[in-house]
Amino acid sequence: MTDVEELLLSRIRDVADYPEPGVMFKDITPLLADPAAFTALTDAFAEIAERTGATKIVGLEARGFILGAPVAVRAGLGFIPVRKAGKLPGATLSQAYDLEYGSAEIEVHAEDLTADDRVLVVDDVLATGGTAEASIRLVHRAGAAVAGVAVLMELSFLDGRPRLQAALDGAPLEAL
Ligand code: AMP
Repeated sequence: MTDVEELLLSRIRDVADYPEPGVMFKDITPLLADPAAFTALTDAFAEIAERTGATKIVGLEARGFILGAPVAVRAGLGFIPVRKAGKLPGATLSQAYDLEYGSAEIEVHAEDLTADDRVLVVDDVLATGGTAEASIRLVHRAGAAVAGVAVLMELSFLDGRPRLQAALDGAPLEAL
């Protein structure tokens, strides 16, 4: 493990049975509170953005906003929020996806992405991959390309990575 990986891992707090029994919640607030760790994370994501030729950063509500916005500034790229349904005031594209119980819907402002864009999708945790997969669909429906997906953590036992393979179509999934 690299020094950066060790630093990042040491700043993630495991909270058992939150928000419901059986879930081990990965709390990133200690990382956000540590400027050295937050800067190292931002630098690592910005390096991925540059390496993959991204032209925009898409952050997934809500922790993807906190992590993605400084990456956009650091890499000199625009930041586009993907929000839960009903939060964006302009004309949106919507994408529904299945949860364990029920379904969810996310949206993006249609005018924020164009056919010239290559998007890096940023979030804190990849679990089942449902949210990231729906985000990739949104990006494609907006006419843009996906440069990759970058997350702090991947919960590999939930098989998000294989689920994303088809949607990624060769673009990288980077888990720090
Ligand atoms: P999924 O769509 O199943 O990949 O879930 C990903 C989304 O849910 C991300 O936006 C995460 O912030 C959140 N999430 C899922 N599982 C966890 C977990 N164990 N700890 C923290 N956040 C989680």
